[in-house]
Amino acid sequence: IRKNKRATAKRIIMKKEKLIIIAAPSGSGKTTIVKELLSLEKLNLGFSISLTTRVKRDNEINGKDYHFVSVSDFKEKIRNNDFIEWEEVYKNVYYGTTKSEIKRLNIEEKNIVFDMDVVGGLNVKTQFPNTSISIFIKPPGLIELKRRLINRKTESQKSIEFRIDKATKELEYSDKYDFVIINDNLELAIKEIKEIIYQFIKTQ
Ligand code: 5GP
Repeated sequence: IRKNKRATAKRIIMKKEKLIIIAAPSGSGKTTIVKELLSLEKLNLGFSISLTTRVKRDNEINGKDYHFVSVSDFKEKIRNNDFIEWEEVYKNVYYGTTKSEIKRLNIEEKNIVFDMDVVGGLNVKTQFPNTSISIFIKPPGLIELKRRLINRKTESQKSIEFRIDKATKELEYSDKYDFVIINDNLELAIKEIKEIIYQFIKTQ
């Protein structure tokens, strides 16, 4: 049994498909950018659907944007060692990426896109140093970030404050990423990221 387990782990790592890690503080336009990238057929991207314990937003679909689960289900998966990484991104709100999700996308022979928080992104990069690329999307400034979060109308005042506070800390991690893209112009940011990914998946 042990031997099989090792073989599975090796197969995950050795696949030629690439991992694209996209991290950013909440409200940086990351979700919009990721959606746009996924629509580009030549990049052959598949979205890694994370598990989360947060409440589903009205515009989200369970099993497409996230797998929404209870805290106790999430904790059971932690105990079972089902995650490649997980984090308590906000107090009592867990997010994580399962091994089975990576396997699913490997079977589909897709390059995998991870939409992650800044710490989770670095964690995945460490685990797959040669087959992954990490991209940090920077909001133009904290005032603009706050404006975006308010405009989105999905967050409470308390949640906005949390997210701004977290973003302030997260910006300090940006220089650990392979690329930093400033999203002051969405169209341009998408164009730049598209090119980075294209160059990366073309090589090796
Ligand atoms: P949101 O609640 O706005 O959808 O996501 C909050 C933060 O959690 C975002 O930065 C998002 O990228 C991040 N996130 C989503 N899935 C994962 C995951 O699987 N692991 C980690 N570490 N962060 C995640």
